[in-house]
Amino acid sequence: MNVIIFGPPGAGKGTQSDFIVSKYNLFKLSTGDLLRKEINKKSLLGIKITSIVNSGSLVSDDIMNNLIESVISNKDYKNRIIFDGYPRNLSQAQNLNKLLLKYDQKINLVLRLKVSLDVIKKRITGRVICSKCGKIYNKYFNLPPINSNCCYEDILKKRDDDILDVAIKRYETYEKSTEPVLDFYRKMDLIKDINGEDEINTIYIKINEYLAAIEAWLCAITPYKYVFKKLYLINYGPNSRN
Ligand SMILES: [Zn+2]
Repeated sequence: MNVIIFGPPGAGKGTQSDFIVSKYNLFKLSTGDLLRKEINKKSLLGIKITSIVNSGSLVSDDIMNNLIESVISNKDYKNRIIFDGYPRNLSQAQNLNKLLLKYDQKINLVLRLKVSLDVIKKRITGRVICSKCGKIYNKYFNLPPINSNCCYEDILKKRDDDILDVAIKRYETYEKSTEPVLDFYRKMDLIKDINGEDEINTIYIKINEYLAAIEAWLCAITPYKYVFKKLYLINYGPNSRN
């Protein structure tokens, strides 16, 4: 199965996608990782990307599409990709659809982590760190222990307030650019909303339900081929534990 995960910055998308990657043996496609990998390879394209990034410009859609095609066309990753942070806009979503079609694949599920701006703000402004032991608390969601002989009020430090302004801007940019992309997938009836304000574990259980249902469906339509391929990948694939 191929999955996309959406969520505003600070929604805990990374944590959830890591869970999914290890449980379902998927390949996480994040554009940041792809760019870094190409830069480290010092390929012709990598050198070009380095100069673009150094000049402060954005990498063009063309370059991004080439990198993404290299993953989608890779047989090892066929139907086992989770897209994290991509597609970011409507034209990328349309292009992704074309690419998947070219390699006889499709998106099976779009997970949308929903967290209100208010909660994101509280996660940031409520965050305190103990200057003695380094433990992180939140005065709205995760209070330090009462009568602790380490993490007491006087030594808990807050982060700078300018982080909040940046976070609000990033949230608003996310909402604005993602709305047309979500519309695109809504028309294909692929979106499942997840309450990102729940406990991490509750969110994971919910996501797991959706993924398990899709796996079961895929198994039912192509039983042997799919099961054997999955067993093979778990034991010998690129993410195998051997
Ligand atoms: Zn402490």
